[in-house]
Amino acid sequence: MVSIYDTKALEAVRSRNAVQPHRMKLFRNALFKKAGGRDEALGTLPESARPDFAEHVGFGFLELLERHDSKIDGASKLIFKTNDGHLIESVVLRPATGRTSICISSQVGCACYCGFCATGMMGFSRNLTLDEILDQVTQANRMVKPEGRSIRNVVFMGMGEPLLNPDAVFAAVAFLRAPQFFDLSASHITVSTVGIPHAMEHFVETFPKMPLALSLHSARQEVREKLMPQARKYPLDQLRETLVRASASGKVMIEYLMLSGINDGEADLQALIDYLRGIPVHLNIIPFNEFAGSQLRGTAQPEREQFAARLKAAGFDTTLRYSLGSDIAAACGQLVQTKARSRQ
Ligand code: SAH
Repeated sequence: MVSIYDTKALEAVRSRNAVQPHRMKLFRNALFKKAGGRDEALGTLPESARPDFAEHVGFGFLELLERHDSKIDGASKLIFKTNDGHLIESVVLRPATGRTSICISSQVGCACYCGFCATGMMGFSRNLTLDEILDQVTQANRMVKPEGRSIRNVVFMGMGEPLLNPDAVFAAVAFLRAPQFFDLSASHITVSTVGIPHAMEHFVETFPKMPLALSLHSARQEVREKLMPQARKYPLDQLRETLVRASASGKVMIEYLMLSGINDGEADLQALIDYLRGIPVHLNIIPFNEFAGSQLRGTAQPEREQFAARLKAAGFDTTLRYSLGSDIAAACGQLVQTKARSRQ
């Protein structure tokens, strides 16, 4: 099967059917600009070429198993099954004001094992392919089309650590940017990472001006190590040098999840201010979303607001995140598929 995302192989199918290049543009537009399906795309081709395309081109790579719509906000959780029987999740977000967004997964499970994240509990199975990463966006686009919406914002904040699957993730980002495909602007694609310095540097070199989000969660090495095992491998000092370079190239967002009694005290605040001093970052203070099996407790909203106010007073551009989709376990860190592979 030739993937619709395999430009070279698709070109060979085009050529052997002598399809004019402008018809391929209509074909691509039907899929990516008009959020049409297989039949709409095939309909743009000369009749003589349709059987070959229908037989040899793969249009879909994930099966949509379940859709859960939040009753309290504009979030929809989508559960997809891969061809080899894994389950992954994406979340469509329709904020009251702002662009329709999707939070997508880059791996089946995750190998980072952050103590506060539900995905880590399912372990790591494998990287998602380019086709599987992009199909989440393609299918979501089709889903929101009848609502008069289109996906204008993509965040790599679903399951997995995107920078530990750099080949597929970099290729997916390039497709999301490309005018002939998804045509999203650089500022509307965000990759979020636990902090893999060499991959972050490679990312900002490849995609200057594209936001990069770092899940910092503590500026104290010993605290961060306890929360995020990857911090042992990539210590804060090294990460800071990367942040300085990355912020000179594009927008860097720092995510700070607030956990009661763990990273929300005075010493934590001071360490954060000292750590980020002089680096032009945007700080996002995140509430902890609970999940079954976790003993951790989030910091209460008034304290989070106070923490954010102190950061603002120290000169940092700071916002408070309010997660959507908490009633359908679709909020940050709640994506987990324990039933993976059992439904094959
Ligand atoms: N692996 C990447 C992207 C996935 S997580 C990363 O770590 O950045 C996306 C964001 O949700 C990260 O900032 C992560 O730290 C945060 N997160 C994880 N678990 C959470 C939880 N239980 N509550 C709130 N945010 C959480």
